[in-house]
Amino acid sequence: MKKIRLGIVGCGIAARELHFPALKELTDKFEIVAVTSRTREHAEDFAKLVSETLGSTPQVFNSYEELLLSKQVDAVDLTLPIELNVPFIKQAVEHDLHVICEKPISTDVKSGKELVEFSLQTNKVIYIAENYRHAFKYNKIRELLHEGAIGQPIFVDWHLWIGMDKENKYVKTTWRQIPKHIGGFLSDGGVHHIAALRVMLGDIEWVSGQVKRITDYLGDVDFLSTLFEFKTGVVGNYTVSYAVKGEEYFEIVGTEGKIRLTPNLIVLSGKVDEDIPLIQENTFKKEFEDFYEVLTTEKPNILGNPAEALKDLAFFEAAIKSKGEKVEIERLIKEA
Ligand code: NAP
Repeated sequence: MKKIRLGIVGCGIAARELHFPALKELTDKFEIVAVTSRTREHAEDFAKLVSETLGSTPQVFNSYEELLLSKQVDAVDLTLPIELNVPFIKQAVEHDLHVICEKPISTDVKSGKELVEFSLQTNKVIYIAENYRHAFKYNKIRELLHEGAIGQPIFVDWHLWIGMDKENKYVKTTWRQIPKHIGGFLSDGGVHHIAALRVMLGDIEWVSGQVKRITDYLGDVDFLSTLFEFKTGVVGNYTVSYAVKGEEYFEIVGTEGKIRLTPNLIVLSGKVDEDIPLIQENTFKKEFEDFYEVLTTEKPNILGNPAEALKDLAFFEAAIKSKGEKVEIERLIKEA
């Protein structure tokens, strides 16, 4: 089996805590041969971690440019401050390399759209990593909805009270304290939720939202409440606070029943009464497996498609710009 020679770019939280644990399970598919980060010491620490865990030592490069020119990698794995995603992706493709890059696609719809257009003009794979698209629970709920388990779905309600304090490791990253990406944590964390909603219920037609800033340490607005409608006519309410901590609530109501999602179960009631346990899974591993298949087989890049990632981000720009009015998402993308 062909191994993809991977260069790790950015050695922060996501690289160390999310990507490396997945990649160390996939040594038949990926070989980490190169590493770079803004701070050389962080790249060296990462190389040491790879060496101690896997027994092979990747080369540490002083800069991204040097890594790109080294001819040692087939693909780069970007886990960077969001504002670097688009320029770094373009640079990799211009050096004839494939890219897997952490979500969100970019800081705003305009630059994200430029990347989507760029991605259509290259045969290199640009894979925007959105691990929620790979999660069992959302794909299972989509299946249940398609099977008619609750009749015709009519409403989805998702409230998240994430509540991050000043000591939170993400809050402490400097690029999140002065965010260049729209809505700060709202888009950074929120693209996951919209990706999940779209896995379950399809594309969103319009959104109307209201934002607030509750704390002074989360960089930007930190509360959003939205009303929106899927193309199928299902109506939704998605409300999220990164300031206030509390219990998450998720429910889809249909003409013949309900689906509730709890931390451990999918709870079906009405037409069918059933509790479906959630399985333990590493969605980052699934994401890298999918990226590998896209690189090495004829599999199309659906789950990491930049156009899909753009739709997730556009929800937030639309909601923030809406100021309570309806904003059509496709029109927003078209006119950006
Ligand atoms: P982070 O801890 O701040 O890591 C960012 C890394 O980028 C740092 O290691 C930093 O370098 C490096 N960097 C900054 N400028 C650079 C440059 N010019 N050249 C090379 N490296 C540079 O942030 P994070 O939390 O890992 O987030 C990174 C990305 O992952 C974001 O897109 C975020 O949305 C995503 N993410 C996704 C998830 C998920 O659940 N899927 C979770 C967390 C984050 P130094 O440390 O060397 O100075």
